[in-house]
Amino acid sequence: MKKLLIKNCRLRSGDLKDILISDGKFEKIADTIDAAGSAAEDVEVIDAGGNLVTPPFCDAHLHLDATLSVGKPRYNMSGTLMEGIQIWDERKVGLSKEIIKKNATDVIEWEVANGSTFLRTHVDSTDTTGVVVDALLEVRDEVKDIADLQIVAFPQDCIYTSDDGEKMLEEALEKGCDVVGGLPYFEYSPIDGYNDLKFVFDMAEKYDRLVDVHCDECSDDQSRYVEYMARETIVRGLEGRVAASHTTAMHNYDNEYAAKVISNIKRADMTIITNPFANANLQNRRDGYPRRRGHTRVDELLEAGVNICIGSDDIMDPWYPMGKGSPLAGANLLLNYAQISGYAQIPLLIDMITENPAKTMHIDGYGIAEGNPANMVILDVDSEFDAVRLTAEALYVIRKGRVISRTVPAKRELMRGDEKHDIDFKVTPENK
Ligand SMILES: [Zn+2]
Repeated sequence: MKKLLIKNCRLRSGDLKDILISDGKFEKIADTIDAAGSAAEDVEVIDAGGNLVTPPFCDAHLHLDATLSVGKPRYNMSGTLMEGIQIWDERKVGLSKEIIKKNATDVIEWEVANGSTFLRTHVDSTDTTGVVVDALLEVRDEVKDIADLQIVAFPQDCIYTSDDGEKMLEEALEKGCDVVGGLPYFEYSPIDGYNDLKFVFDMAEKYDRLVDVHCDECSDDQSRYVEYMARETIVRGLEGRVAASHTTAMHNYDNEYAAKVISNIKRADMTIITNPFANANLQNRRDGYPRRRGHTRVDELLEAGVNICIGSDDIMDPWYPMGKGSPLAGANLLLNYAQISGYAQIPLLIDMITENPAKTMHIDGYGIAEGNPANMVILDVDSEFDAVRLTAEALYVIRKGRVISRTVPAKRELMRGDEKHDIDFKVTPENK
């Protein structure tokens, strides 16, 4: 395998380095590495031109079984989560494995082109045919050249509200799903909701799997399952293995109660996965005005030191009609929506799509460091600030030492009389 030398890489620390890759690993990172003396057929040289390089993005929350199905069989006219669930129930009757695989694979390719090669998707374990789970398990194998896919067995119709929910969830784990999911709030009653979580944690212990629950994804300030998740995590000694996705009800909690819950989430070393696109749209719709933001308490969780990740969640499906699989677009939206625009907070948004989800997903050897698998992205900007501001393109995506995606940025030419101005939305030293 040819060596790869990448010159002039701006690391997240701000340092400018050259990076040498051989045999799929980062061999050397230094101020200057010279390819002179090596035959051209032995070393490929890429000049990063001082642009920012990061480890690949990780999209921590997707639904690749439903993706690209917007409008099929019908559009969500109310925009609510409940109508989305009804549409998905209509769609999955008689759905073919080939269609699910095609849609999932297309979105994985979008994600990779946007710089994400580590993806966690939920997959509906309450589909009675089993086709949905089988489709994603096959896709996980088929895309290994470009992405690592982690699959959460997710009981979309709930464990106790659907028939045989326990059995179907366990079957999905036996088939090979990587993570156990749950949906306690949408069970018939709080008792069923707590039993839902108890079963999820039992399965995590029995099959030695990570946990990722759709938790408190509602506007109801009495939805308090995340408190129970923290309790189960601590009592069972599962610290560092449990994620709660959404937790939007927390936005509406009494402040005293929220402070207690956040401190227990930290104690349990749990991850909170926030999904800016869906959460901005689905929650607090019945508020009238003033309308609460319907988002979990990102700033307070950050202040408490909780591990937070950003997920795309829905990409063109019954719950959210837009999306293109770009973690940087999620970071950009969260900056606005959760008021994370303080200058020192911007790197935290990059953490939420890189280091934080890598920790949640237990990815080995993650990061640009000598000896690690050579996975990295070269962005079309020289700073984290511009990466979020411009939702920067991924010029190169490198996986295990191989370039798997290249992007040629758009070229814009503006005519002022006879004079041509190139427009790239970047600030220059002349802008004072
Ligand atoms: Zn979700």
